[in-house]
Amino acid sequence: DEPGLLAARTQAFAPVQEHYYEAPPRIERGWRHHLIDVRGRGYLDMVNNVAILGHGEPRIADAVERQLRLLNTNSRFHYGAVVELSEALAARAPAGLDTVLLVNSGSEAVDLALRMVRAATGRADVLALTEAYHGWTVGADAVSTSLGDNPHALATRPDWVHLLDAPNAYRGRHRGPDAGRYLEDALERLEELDSAGVSLAGLIAEPIFGNGGGILLPDGYLAGLASAVRERGGLVVSDEVQVSYGRLGEHFWGFDQQGVVPDVSAVAKAMGNGHPLGAVITTRAIAEAFAVEGSFFSSAGGSPVSCVVGSTVLRVLDQDGLQENARVVGALLADGLRSLARRHPALGAVHGMGLYLGVEVVAGGPDAPDPVAAREICEDLLTEGVIVQPTGDHKNVLKIKPPLTIDAAAVRRFLGALGRVMELREA
Ligand code: PMP
Repeated sequence: DEPGLLAARTQAFAPVQEHYYEAPPRIERGWRHHLIDVRGRGYLDMVNNVAILGHGEPRIADAVERQLRLLNTNSRFHYGAVVELSEALAARAPAGLDTVLLVNSGSEAVDLALRMVRAATGRADVLALTEAYHGWTVGADAVSTSLGDNPHALATRPDWVHLLDAPNAYRGRHRGPDAGRYLEDALERLEELDSAGVSLAGLIAEPIFGNGGGILLPDGYLAGLASAVRERGGLVVSDEVQVSYGRLGEHFWGFDQQGVVPDVSAVAKAMGNGHPLGAVITTRAIAEAFAVEGSFFSSAGGSPVSCVVGSTVLRVLDQDGLQENARVVGALLADGLRSLARRHPALGAVHGMGLYLGVEVVAGGPDAPDPVAAREICEDLLTEGVIVQPTGDHKNVLKIKPPLTIDAAAVRRFLGALGRVMELREA
């Protein structure tokens, strides 16, 4: 019985994960951007930013099965799959970022990226933005501040981490057209660190906050900050775990949106379409500086099976034109959400771009985030057969990051459902 299974889940499986619903549907299978529960009921998956190609993708399943039958081992052995994936990734990265290391997750990629900038600079300290989430391993956790996923973070911050107040043009201290002033604040913060004698190994930043709710950084912010960090001898790490792989539509990488070329990029999530896979992409010089410290080895990172998954994801993205789909369908979705927001004051703003969107749920304006209403809207959407989850530091942002397979018909279905839910709330 369902309540029994749910109770068992929180016994056998540690009670550490929100599933967001009073009675979450038990999902049995998926196809593209659709999920089907054990009762045969279908749902539109508007939230799964890992399964970028959608669920049940046969080209991935076939590649995994073929490779599993052929060979699976670790990257101390010499095989072609690791070279093919590394070359494919380097070919997508900007000139200069031509060296790849493979791991199993976003957290590991972030930890490794931090170790690399430390090795290359001989320094330990790192600058991180508040409202960011970089992962759960000790290193990634140390630079994460997004309270939604990491409520204990502020109490456990080690002294090698220096925080910079995140720009928030919607709710922060400089709003709308004043948001350019965040860069002035950031430069002041760097001067403060200079005076305190801090030498930064680097800056780590999400080019667009993911768990923070999808709000865009002000134009030129990351470029200005990156050059100020570099002037001081530090390096720039871009956390591309959530934002990359064409989800933005206009850009394959998040840093492109901010006009910055990082020194190290951490990639995961979409990279494996749900299979555990992550990477660090960096320059030869940084990789060589890191290699001096000793070797780096991950038992399953870069395994032949992971590598064929990674290569197949990139191939399918191209074959099916999914980045272009994210641009076109994402624009349709954002337009529809903005027109709903004009009609329903509880929908305060639409953040993000492409298929990386967040809708603020507020009670009167930016200063009154409304997590209770956000959760109720998610529950009501579930009864409409649509899965959306709350995100953001206040858990009041509707996270809208569907697989990139989503089409205009699904967008219309989603907007219709959200419209009905909002009208009923106001009736
Ligand atoms: N960085 C960002 C921006 C993320 O969104 C996440 C995952 N939500 C991570 C890092 C950590 O990735 P993982 O869960 O694969 O360890």
